[in-house]
Amino acid sequence: MDNNKAGQEKSADIELPDDGLSAAKLFSAGEGLTYNDFIILPGYIDFVADQVDLVSPLTKKITLKVPLVSSPMDTVTESDMAIAMALSGGIGIIHHNCTPEYQASEVHKVKKYKHGFIRDPVVFSPNHTVRDVLNVKAEHGFCGVPITESGKIGGKLVGIVTSRDIDFLEDSPSQQNLKLETIMTKLENLVTAKSGVTLQEANLILEKSKKGKLPIVNDKGELVSLMARTDLKKNRSYPNASKDENKQLLVGAAIGTRSTDRERLKLLAAAGVDVIVLDSSQGNSVFQIEMIKYIKAEYPELQIVAGNVVTTMQAKSLIEAGADGLRVGMGCGSICITQEVMAVGRPQATAVYKVSEYARKFGVPVIADGGIQSLGHIIKALSLGASTVMMGSLLAGTSEAPGEYFFSDGVRLKKYRGMGSLEAMNKKDAKGSAMDRYFHNEMDKMKVAQGVSGSIVDKGSVLKFLPYLQCGIKHGCQDIGAKSLSILRSLTYSGELKFERRTPSAQQEGNVHGLFSYEKRLY
Ligand code: GDP
Ligand code: 5GP
Repeated sequence: MDNNKAGQEKSADIELPDDGLSAAKLFSAGEGLTYNDFIILPGYIDFVADQVDLVSPLTKKITLKVPLVSSPMDTVTESDMAIAMALSGGIGIIHHNCTPEYQASEVHKVKKYKHGFIRDPVVFSPNHTVRDVLNVKAEHGFCGVPITESGKIGGKLVGIVTSRDIDFLEDSPSQQNLKLETIMTKLENLVTAKSGVTLQEANLILEKSKKGKLPIVNDKGELVSLMARTDLKKNRSYPNASKDENKQLLVGAAIGTRSTDRERLKLLAAAGVDVIVLDSSQGNSVFQIEMIKYIKAEYPELQIVAGNVVTTMQAKSLIEAGADGLRVGMGCGSICITQEVMAVGRPQATAVYKVSEYARKFGVPVIADGGIQSLGHIIKALSLGASTVMMGSLLAGTSEAPGEYFFSDGVRLKKYRGMGSLEAMNKKDAKGSAMDRYFHNEMDKMKVAQGVSGSIVDKGSVLKFLPYLQCGIKHGCQDIGAKSLSILRSLTYSGELKFERRTPSAQQEGNVHGLFSYEKRLY
C-alpha cells in the first residue's frame, strides 16, 4: 500500500516521455499516407459515448448534426438516398448524370418530402384493370392504389382500390380483366384529408376512420399524396434531421463547370437546392473559379462546395474565388483508377490533413471524399481535420441507392460504378446522361476511363445503417477522449491528439487474423 503511494508521487514528478506523433509531425516527412498507414492513440475517458456531440459544419453556413454526406454518383444518390441521409442528420448530393429536369425533380422531391406521406404513389385510372393492380402487388408488395381521372398523381381523385377489393378476384383470369371503375371504392365513400394536413392530424383521421389508406387532396379534389396505416405503426421520429428554416429537408446537387451547367443550376435553384457541389476531379481550374464567381453573383443564397482538391495550392485558388466548403480527394475512391491512369492525385490521409489544416484558417470546412472503407476510416478522416465525410461505396448497395438488386451466386447485390467508368459515360436511359466530369469536347470521342464498375452486397436501409455509423463515431471519439467533433479538431491542431505510423505487419495485427473462419457481421 505504502509502496504504491510512493510510486504515484514519483510518477507525478517525472515528465511524460514523448509518446506518439502530433498530426503535424506525422505528415511532416513528405510521404503520402493513407488511412491504413496510421493509428490514433487513445486518450482519457470522462464521459459516456452517448454524450458525444457530432455537430459539424458542411459549409460556412450549413451545419449538420451528423457529419456524413452521400456522394453525387448515379448508383448512390437520388431523392430516396438524399431523404434518408437528411432524415438521419447528414445530407445527400444528387448526381448530375441525368437531364437537368430529372435532377431538379429529384431535388424537388427532397424539398417537398413530408415524413409519413407517400409523395409518389402508384396511381391508376378507372380504365386500368384488376390485373394491373395484381402486377403492382407482385412487384412492390402493396395493392392500395388511388384512382384518378388521369391515372396520375395530380389528377382528380375518383376512388381507391385496396386489397379488400381484389382479394377474391386473383384466381379468375376473366375477373382480372375487370376495369377498376367496377370494383373500386368510389369517391363518395372515401375518407380523405386536405393538403396541408399535419402528420398528427392525418394520423388521427386514419385512427378514427379505421381505413388502411388516406388520400390527401387539394382544394380542387386533385390527389397530392397518400398515407398508409401500416406506416403509422412504424412511425419513427428523426430528431437529428437536417432541415432549413422552413423545416424542409436539406439537399445538395452536383453540377459541372461548363456553360450549359448554368441552365442546370437555374432549375436546381428553382427546385430549392441548398448547396451546389462543383463536380470536378481536378477543381483548380479557371472554369471552376469562373463558375464560383457566377454562382456567388447570381445566387448569393446558395452555398458552394468546390473541388476536388488535394493540395493547399489548389485550395487557395478556390477559397479566394469564394468557396464555402472544399471537397478533398483525388484518385482514392474505391472504383477509381485516376492515380493509375493519369499519374496524378494524392494519398487521402495526407490530402485531408494538409488541406484541412490550411482551409480552417479561412473558416472553410473540408469534406473528406472517397476511400472510406470502414467506420474506422471515418473517425480517422475526422481526426485529420475533415468536418464531414463523403461516401460512395459504403452507402451503395443500400435499399435507398438507385438501381435494382440482382443475385449472383446466391448473393443479393446492387451495381456500384465510378462516374468516370465507361459504363457511366455510355449510360443511355430515360434519366438522360450528362457526363462532363471526366470527358469533354471532341478529344473525348476517344474515352479514357478513370473508374470501374462493380457490385456491392445488399446492406438494407440507410435509415438503419447510418445510426450504426453514428454510434461507432461516438465510440471512436470517446476512446480518443473528445466529447465533440470540434474538440476533436482542436486536439488535432494543439498536438494533443497522438498518432503513430503502422508497419504492414502492424496493419495485419490490427485486423482479424489467425482464425480458420469468422462471421463478418457488423450491425
Ligand atoms: P397495401 O394495403 O397492400 O397497399 O399495403 P400496406 O398498406 O400494408 O403497405 C404499403 C407499404 O408500402 C407502406 O409502408 C407504404 O408506405 C409503402 N408504399 C410505398 N409506395 C407506395 C405506393 O405507391 N402505394 C402504396 N399503397 N404504398 C406504398
Ligand atoms: P468511395 O466512397 O467509393 O471510396 O469513393 C467515392 C468517391 O470517388 C466519389 O465521391 C468521387 O469523388 C470519386 N469517384 C466517383 N467516381 C469516380 C471515377 O470514376 N473515377 C474517379 N477517379 N473517382 C471517382
